[in-house]
Amino acid sequence: MSTPSKPLRQPGLIVYLCGLATSALVLWGVQVANENGENIMGWYANGIIPAGAFLVGIASGVGYAVGSRLLQVKLSKAFVFGMITTAIVDYFAAHYLTYLNVIELHHIPAERYGFIDYFREISEGMAFKDKHSGEPGSPLGMWGYVYKVLEIGGYSVGAMFPSLMVFGMPYCKGCQQYLKKHRTGYLHAPEPWSVVKKLKKKERLAALQASIKDLIGRANEFTGPIAAAPLAETEAALATLDQTINKDAAARITYTLKKCPRCDAHHLELSLFNYTEDKKVANSNVAKIDKTKVVAADSTEAAAA
Ligand SMILES: [Zn+2]
Repeated sequence: MSTPSKPLRQPGLIVYLCGLATSALVLWGVQVANENGENIMGWYANGIIPAGAFLVGIASGVGYAVGSRLLQVKLSKAFVFGMITTAIVDYFAAHYLTYLNVIELHHIPAERYGFIDYFREISEGMAFKDKHSGEPGSPLGMWGYVYKVLEIGGYSVGAMFPSLMVFGMPYCKGCQQYLKKHRTGYLHAPEPWSVVKKLKKKERLAALQASIKDLIGRANEFTGPIAAAPLAETEAALATLDQTINKDAAARITYTLKKCPRCDAHHLELSLFNYTEDKKVANSNVAKIDKTKVVAADSTEAAAA
């Protein structure tokens, strides 16, 4: 294994500033909504899942993800997980700004009403609106802290989400580029859904299981020889597959070939689509074959020669 000649760019300052910008914008929006009587951070699903904070977190984290994707910067694992810390800092920074705003507005000296006092008040004084009347309920008291912790947790996990999605995208380290979709091919189960659908549920299940098992067997046979093959050979093999989707097939495997815009580094993804015995549809990942490392190293050597 040879290492890429260029050092890998770390999430650049610009990516970080993009993230801070979306976070600041979103948290400011939350504050404006709050002043108008809508506490988005306080939206809970099933009374306990901090859905609002999670959504606000996702919106805050979009800048990091978009910035890194557009600037072709590979996010490190440390950056993605460090997002949790960044989000917690952003969260308290936003509250601190609100606090400064409050004391300035009411001409309160900071010695008399500190940030801790402010945070205690918004935590213990937190109340849920009555579902029917819309009137605020009684303050939560100590339980307010539990909800604040849930809120911070929801927000920071949400903020990590967009980066995590970009983190999973195939990337060529040699050229420092994200891979682009290059070609697709389909492998179909021969059994038509229009026929399988009419079977009794038990028989339908058996037919679908047999069909999927057979399809995966064929996919394994097809994928084996190209798993380590060069790009041209992989492309040629994919060209022998069906090039359009047959919607009536009970199941199909989609081959997606992504390629580096600058070199032959590529990545193959296999996903399974199938109908279910309940007449619904299901999608799942079957395999990911990352051929960026081998090829990228070869091409850097070739370029150096
Ligand atoms: Zn490349």
